[in-house]
Amino acid sequence: MLEADDVSVVYEGGFTALSGASVTLAAGSVTGLIGPNGAGKSTLFGVLAGAVRPASGEVRLAGEMVTHHGPVWRARRGLARTFQLSRELASLSVLENVMVAQPQMRGERLLSVLWARGAVRREEDAARDKARGLLQRVDLWRLADAPAGTLSGGQKKLLEICRALMLDPRIVLMDEPSAGVNPTRIGEIVEFVQALRQEGTTFGLVEHNMGMVRALCDHVYVLAEGRVLTAGRFDEVIADTQVASAYLGAQS
Ligand code: ADP
Ligand code: MG
Repeated sequence: MLEADDVSVVYEGGFTALSGASVTLAAGSVTGLIGPNGAGKSTLFGVLAGAVRPASGEVRLAGEMVTHHGPVWRARRGLARTFQLSRELASLSVLENVMVAQPQMRGERLLSVLWARGAVRREEDAARDKARGLLQRVDLWRLADAPAGTLSGGQKKLLEICRALMLDPRIVLMDEPSAGVNPTRIGEIVEFVQALRQEGTTFGLVEHNMGMVRALCDHVYVLAEGRVLTAGRFDEVIADTQVASAYLGAQS
């Protein structure tokens, strides 16, 4: 579904963050990217999503070469990422947060004043229905009118996923969804991702929480210093001594 082939990234200043990394996210799977801090995991997500331009290598989305297309173009082709709620969004309600994630809804206020009131109203109703359906699934509908900033860490992550789902994505990339979440609530995120995956959504997951990786990932890539060290099933890669030393190296 989504592939990076032999990708290298050199940041301004000349730092090589990725050197010849290749990963494949198979359709309907959850693929994990693990590795020590600074390994290049977020950079690789950036390349997959179109936010980071590689110095060399290719990216394919559903078989189509997308290397030279940006994130908006790729989002229209079904590739979504979760983003931490920005400060502006934290003051909007939970429901508004999900509704504004629908691209057609941007600028709706202005449009509704100027023109096409009926059409905008119908679009808004459809977005509201869709948002309600998503929020009900993660038990956030009861908090629809609360400012998003008042949610718990775990609820915010569920909200971020709902926002991504407004695009009807085929693929969702999530960078450290367990960060800032009470460990006792991580299971709720795992359950939601598992349910969406059952429905056919493909996931990429950068994660430090190994319980979450074990629970969710079909296939795991281990990155270290901008390269793929090894890949395989979770239990296979964790048994790998090189992987152990990559982590021990990161701790020292
Ligand atoms: P990870 O997500 O695995 O922790 P990153 O992809 O964020 O790693 O970063 C990989 C390396 O690239 C790190 O050494 C980081 O400091 C560097 N890096 C990340 N973003 C930039 C940037 N915009 N400019 C320069 N260096 C960067
Ligand atoms: Mg990162």
